[in-house]
Amino acid sequence: MVKLMTYAGPVADDAPGTRTGGVPHTSREFEWPRCRQCAGPMQFLAQVSLADIEPGGVGLLSLFMCQNDPGLCGEWDPTAGGNRAFLFESDTAHTPVPPDDGETLLGGASAVACAELDGEDYPEAGERWHQRSDREVLGQLGGRPAWVQDDETPTCGTCGRPMAFVVQLEEGHDRRTAANFGGGCGYAFCCRPCTTAAFLFQC
Ligand SMILES: [Zn+2]
Ligand SMILES: [Zn+2]
Repeated sequence: MVKLMTYAGPVADDAPGTRTGGVPHTSREFEWPRCRQCAGPMQFLAQVSLADIEPGGVGLLSLFMCQNDPGLCGEWDPTAGGNRAFLFESDTAHTPVPPDDGETLLGGASAVACAELDGEDYPEAGERWHQRSDREVLGQLGGRPAWVQDDETPTCGTCGRPMAFVVQLEEGHDRRTAANFGGGCGYAFCCRPCTTAAFLFQC
């Protein structure tokens, strides 16, 4: 089965659950991440409720990437310091105020509806979806990543094991609300036992 994320219209910036854009729901101790390359604050891209990945899943995966100097901060690389992924397990009631400087938010928040299609092949499922709906595909939840380039599944920095795939993101619905993956796709992973997460993009 392929679980497509489809565009379900604009939504409040602080809407709960899976969405792109808006402001993140985080733990109380959360500090807005800064880029290790340029020191500017990162841009919040999306949050994914783990309940949308598997039944009984708890927590939120939250994705950030530097956009202060697009292309210059290694923001496609899971370890270069130009992006951050967080796994918030239970305490996600906090909505932090973004820093005043830098590019911190997308141009709007987009609601996500799930559509389950037969098969295992995300691009093929997306084509089938477009034959019956005008609603854009924003990505896929779980399943198998469809790599633009070679498989770059990251290893967990804590336990050294390959991380579990969580979400593949398209850039977005329109120019205003889209993330910048250089025309490609973003990929996020987590290691549940270690509460670690990683993000990268390929184009
Ligand atoms: Zn940067
Ligand atoms: Zn681990």
